[in-house]
Amino acid sequence: MTGVVASVHDHAPAGGERTPLAMVVGPTRPAASVLARLAAPARPLTDHTFIAEFGACLRSFRALVGAPDAAVVVVPGTGTTGLESAVVSLLDPGRPVLVVSTGMWGDRLRDICLRNGIRVDAPTTDPGHAPDLVLLERLLAGQAYQAVLVTHVDSSSGVRVDIRAIADLADRHGALCVVDGIAAIGAEEIEQRAWGVDVYLGSPAKALAAPPGLALFSLSPRAVHWIEHRAWTPANYSLDLASWLPVMSATERGEFAFFQTTAGNLVDAFGEALRLVLAEGRAERVIRHAALRDRLHAGLAEIGVELLVPDRVNQANGVTVCRLPGPIPCTALLDAVAEEGVLLQAGTHPVAGSRTFRIGHMGNVTEDDIETTLEAIRRARHP
Ligand SMILES: *Cc1c(COP(=O)(O)O)cnc(C)c1O
Repeated sequence: MTGVVASVHDHAPAGGERTPLAMVVGPTRPAASVLARLAAPARPLTDHTFIAEFGACLRSFRALVGAPDAAVVVVPGTGTTGLESAVVSLLDPGRPVLVVSTGMWGDRLRDICLRNGIRVDAPTTDPGHAPDLVLLERLLAGQAYQAVLVTHVDSSSGVRVDIRAIADLADRHGALCVVDGIAAIGAEEIEQRAWGVDVYLGSPAKALAAPPGLALFSLSPRAVHWIEHRAWTPANYSLDLASWLPVMSATERGEFAFFQTTAGNLVDAFGEALRLVLAEGRAERVIRHAALRDRLHAGLAEIGVELLVPDRVNQANGVTVCRLPGPIPCTALLDAVAEEGVLLQAGTHPVAGSRTFRIGHMGNVTEDDIETTLEAIRRARHP
């Protein structure tokens, strides 16, 4: 292969083929010490060292989201499993919800609610734009929603939503605030308690740079009370967070409790990734991601690539959605960039998807990776 810009992360197995630099929204590149934790067999769930380390992992997650009084739940599953688990555990099928969508993940939240028989209002947002707070206020004033569900960063649009403002709206109208923070956590500022967020949902495989396979929840005391005093029983058994809450409290006390088998290796790897994230520093990590984004955006402007999100305040730190330059088909552009050694992703926005492509810049991405990516796009467009 010619034109491949070497990166420290490349390795050259026999035959000289290089692993492309994956600038994707996930799964992202874990540190070597995180991968090492996957290689050891999962310990018995009653192992005291495992329980202690799992407990430390839960405490670290609470610190990461800024929710000292939250109940943290870490369970097997993907991000989507986590979304559905939050819906079936918290939402009364007999009462409406308001879903604030800025792309495909908000639409998926809406669809999960609908599939579970919940009535949904889900105003759409212009592609690349923030939700209309005046419209949301009007909807909330017009009827009693049990919850407002919102995506912090939608990786199909690259939009970052002002969660503090949405949580405030929800609170003033007596609704729970449930946030999909999967593409945000580890790259964006999160102050769950100060903002009044009831459920903050994460996944390890994006900006936290751990392997996929766990769903992460931080539940406010109000959300825990809500679950524990539900007047209905969810039709779903395995996704019910009510069954996990006592297991997680026991784990934090250093005691064994059981609902389903914990994904031990994944918890070990996630715990190590969280240790690295907190060692870097919450604020420092957000600043690093914002700086990588700014460098990428400046470079894209230099080569004439436009962003889907026009307003800087709404631009996510860890993912950028770009408009396709000219009439070139997305696959042709991505293939040409891949020829230059960099893997990017096609657009997935329900409306703008076919005219966009996506760049993930989260987790262990470096400044060199940003330069490599810009160079690859430049060369792909002007070979
Ligand atoms: C990736 C992602 C998810 C869930 O992804 P899974 O593939 O189910 O793990 C949910 N929400 C957002 C915003 C995401 O970026």
